[in-house]
Amino acid sequence: MDLFKDIKITKGYSRSLLVDTTKGNIEFFSNDFYNLLTNLSDYKNITELTEKNPEFKEDINLLKKNYVFNENILELENFIEYEDTLESPFTFYKISIDFDKFVFNYLTDNFDIYKLTDKFIIHIYNLEDILTIKKKLDKYKHIVKYLKIHNDIIELKEILRIYKLDETYELESYKDESKTNLNKIKLLVNNNIYLESKQFYSSYKNMLHINKNGDLKFNPENEIIIGNILEFNNNNINDLTFNEYTNININDVMVCKDCEFRHFCLDKQDVIKTTFDKKKYYKKKECEYNPYICKWSHEDDYLNLEYSGITSNANIFEINLEKFNQIFNKLWN
Ligand code: SF4
Repeated sequence: MDLFKDIKITKGYSRSLLVDTTKGNIEFFSNDFYNLLTNLSDYKNITELTEKNPEFKEDINLLKKNYVFNENILELENFIEYEDTLESPFTFYKISIDFDKFVFNYLTDNFDIYKLTDKFIIHIYNLEDILTIKKKLDKYKHIVKYLKIHNDIIELKEILRIYKLDETYELESYKDESKTNLNKIKLLVNNNIYLESKQFYSSYKNMLHINKNGDLKFNPENEIIIGNILEFNNNNINDLTFNEYTNININDVMVCKDCEFRHFCLDKQDVIKTTFDKKKYYKKKECEYNPYICKWSHEDDYLNLEYSGITSNANIFEINLEKFNQIFNKLWN
């Protein structure tokens, strides 16, 4: 017996998450139940599993109802092993640019952008810039997904009326979300994001943002600069996928490594090397979710990491077990 292949389970420090990536359903379980689920091949069928583990009867029944188990594993054994890795041709999932005339012209004159991505986003800060962009937009209209206008004064209707932009361009007003929403966590439940996060830091993987100086980052929200667009052209742009951040794995990022959401999380915060281990990273700003006590900051009994007995910064990662156990038991028992 086994789990169906679209059922993904992730063990966190304090509980486990089960996700059905096809139906989008999620369930939380104890880590003891996680251990049982990883040894399902020891059982012939659900009846035997339930009889031998009566303490998990309720959990097993819940999963049984949701068609999580596959009892035909004997037949499946005739098929080749399922590859738990993601392989895809090189393209950027998204290229975005803070509009600057020189940088924009360099980019559009020197790169086949439509070969590099199918999602091109232009952040515009001045009304006049739209005129410059408009001249070139026809060439890119099948990949320009958004013109993000960073100006509260300009009415979008007005822009459409004045410049009669083609309806294919989606105009979106955009207040600087990167500053206000840095701590908002986006979770995306699908197979690809799960497989990708097993190998990479999803928020950096195949993302490219170009700022007004031509500096390259992964996302507008990031501070880390990985080069300048003027150093690149059509022939060497693929080199950008090989940098010191290419092989960061979420399991090497302190705190996130213990979070049951880590394989579906799209938090864009930069990850920074710790001083205690060159292969370990940390995030400067604490997440809105505390994976040790399994609480979100909007919940009444939420406590931050420090108050839960966890210390995570550039120089140290430490769990004060006595303090943590005391707090966890008070919250959950
Ligand atoms: S701790 Fe926060 S940022 Fe890290 S994986 Fe969990 S939800 Fe995402």
